[in-house]
Amino acid sequence: MSPPSLIPSYPEPSVSAPVALSYELFPPRNEVAEQTLWRTIHELESTQPDYVSVTYGASGSNRDTALTLLNRLLTETSLRPLAHLTCVGNTAEELAGIISELLDHGVRGILALRGDAPRDGGAGAGPGTLRYAQDLVELIRRVEQRRSALLAAGRVAIGVAAYPSKHPESPSEEHDVEVLLAKQRSGADFAITQVFFDPSRYADLVLRARRSGVTIPIIPGVMPLTSPRRLTRLAELSGVQPDVKLLDRLNRAADDVERRRIGVQATVDLANGALDAGAPGIHLYTFNEHGCALDVLEKLQLVRPQRSRQTPEAPRTLVS
Ligand code: FAD
Repeated sequence: MSPPSLIPSYPEPSVSAPVALSYELFPPRNEVAEQTLWRTIHELESTQPDYVSVTYGASGSNRDTALTLLNRLLTETSLRPLAHLTCVGNTAEELAGIISELLDHGVRGILALRGDAPRDGGAGAGPGTLRYAQDLVELIRRVEQRRSALLAAGRVAIGVAAYPSKHPESPSEEHDVEVLLAKQRSGADFAITQVFFDPSRYADLVLRARRSGVTIPIIPGVMPLTSPRRLTRLAELSGVQPDVKLLDRLNRAADDVERRRIGVQATVDLANGALDAGAPGIHLYTFNEHGCALDVLEKLQLVRPQRSRQTPEAPRTLVS
């Protein structure tokens, strides 16, 4: 006779998990942008996010600045970086080298993406390149295996993209969910969504994903809805159409203060809608500006864990 299981005697956790908080940053393009970015980083650091993600430019164009930023985040701040990486612009061999370099420098989270072919017709998919994000997830797991001693048998956290509205190249939303499931099966731990402007899009994606067997957390990517120019530009790039009523209100705002008030409230409503649909966290696209992100955060009142602050400049002293 087998011994009775102990599992039923464990109590159900009564405390719900705190809401995860993360920000997206992009590597600066010049010195002025770098100064602005570092002010933003220090302001955002004070909110104790769980991680900050660093984008990887189309076709790896900003590879060096991305790696420099990731290194500085690791050595000069208390922030945990999540490095975006794309198949486009690098061969599989080059990608394996970049992944190794990231791990050697202490990065423990990678957002595995396919990327988009550059608009100027430069290098897209070619010989020796990976075709899909799923292939990159598998490559990261293979590099991780070779470095298991360095990682003390721990795992790299691998994120992938998910789409509340159909990916522009995809035949259907069902296909998008199948792709997400395939990325999970290949080793993805979590997903961050493309922008969306209606919380029901996020809720619907999560419902369809769960029905199809996707179990990983799907974190909503929330964009500050304060700039009509940025909203329109993003619609061109991602194919996601912004709410026309919001665009109209932003365009008709009396001044920048009024525009920001409208945009921040719309962003808070969007994030709250996603949280009401069960979102386990909020990933804020900052565009390297902290003002709107902090305004949104203040109004959101997220339940966050209390952590004692530690920075590399002020290491904790061990008391014997
Ligand atoms: P994939 O998952 O590979 O999907 C790409 C297309 O191929 C989709 O149409 C999908 O349906 C199809 N597909 C995938 N797998 C299969 C398969 N096995 N069989 C058939 N069809 C398949 N871009 C950047 O360049 N740099 C960034 O830093 C960056 N960060 C991003 C962060 C987030 C949170 C998101 C949502 C997107 C980001 N992007 C970034 C944009 C992203 O690269 C594009 O959306 C890109 O077009 C698709 O990337 P993916 O990882 O979803 O690709």
